[in-house]
Amino acid sequence: ERIWIETKTKQYPLFLGEGVIESLPDILRQLSFSERTKVLIITDQTLERLYLPKLRALLADDYEVFAHVIPGGEEAKSFEQYYACQTTALQCGLDRKSLILAFGGGVVGDLAGFVAATYMRGIRYIQIPTTLLAHDSAVGGKVAINHPIGKNMIGAFYQPEAVVYDIAFLRSLPEKELRSGFAEVIKHALIRDRDFYEWLRREVRTLADLKGERLQYCIKKGIEVKASVVREDEKEAGVRAHLNFGHTLGHAIENELGYGAITHGDAVAIGMLFALFASERVYGVSFAGHHFSSWFRTYGFPVSLPQQLQATRLLAKMKGDKKARAGTVRMVLLKDIGAVEVMSLDDETLLALLYEFSR
Ligand code: NAD
Ligand code: ZN
Repeated sequence: ERIWIETKTKQYPLFLGEGVIESLPDILRQLSFSERTKVLIITDQTLERLYLPKLRALLADDYEVFAHVIPGGEEAKSFEQYYACQTTALQCGLDRKSLILAFGGGVVGDLAGFVAATYMRGIRYIQIPTTLLAHDSAVGGKVAINHPIGKNMIGAFYQPEAVVYDIAFLRSLPEKELRSGFAEVIKHALIRDRDFYEWLRREVRTLADLKGERLQYCIKKGIEVKASVVREDEKEAGVRAHLNFGHTLGHAIENELGYGAITHGDAVAIGMLFALFASERVYGVSFAGHHFSSWFRTYGFPVSLPQQLQATRLLAKMKGDKKARAGTVRMVLLKDIGAVEVMSLDDETLLALLYEFSR
């Protein structure tokens, strides 16, 4: 299956399906990478162990292949790891014609993409996502590393040449990572696609349903929503903010608990429930028939704020979010499923909502 991702500046293909990695050599030829091109695979330790030999073998005949392995986890999106990648790239003699393969989840994608964006003022790269969450991170061209002061604070908008998304890799994904990525799938459905939302409710009863054709359909629909938002608004002037649904509170929760204490998707799931609750209060709409909490619970998502978190501290973190405009928090709300509104809420209103939500 091939999906075209379009931005104002670039159009590139996304290959999706079971076994598509096998066509990587063909894809590189189509993209006119010549033989003996230097290819640097950036990946993490888990993927190195599971799949790196296979990926290397696919390319070994035609290209000069190198690999740089980072430790797993969010901490790897650091300046130190970024610098180490650049050192490897220089030592391997990569030049402006060389290629970087970002082989892994969102951590590898963000880091390797930023390495590609800045090595010799930018060389080409391809995303090879291996998590469900990466249906989100591999599309849109946002690449970044973290600074101790803030997540994703150093980065670029830099689009890949292609995305090669082989769902066979996802079979080894731990359940909590699958659930984390699924939160973003739900988000994409809720902000833009009511039919897809209804399909999810019907067809994905438990996480165990996320395999084969259903998994591929989730990835495809999620990517379509993400790509359509990005097409309209590559650099976050307007509708791209809609992707922040569930994230204003979600980021605050992650930040307060400390990264690693909760997955991104679990935090976003709570954030979405809060945004739905706030939508009902602010717009007087009712999602009553939808029973979001019990639906989320069937997948194992947490459905309320962790006890130890204080509303006032969460509010402070929500205001510190880089997407907040001075003074107020811009919350992404729903007037209906598929119909987003961005609303500035003052401290008093938000705090009251947080208290009520945590009851
Ligand atoms: P991740 O890359 O850390 O992967 C999660 C874990 O799963 C890691 O331990 C990894 O080693 C393991 N793993 C990956 N693929 C596997 C597989 N096939 N089998 C077994 N284990 C596997 O995390 P993620 O959730 O994919 O991505 C999170 C990152 O994505 C965050 O840093 C976030 O900021 C970023 N992100 C970026 C964007 C964007 O637009 N650029 C959007 C959303 C999220
Ligand atoms: Zn997210």
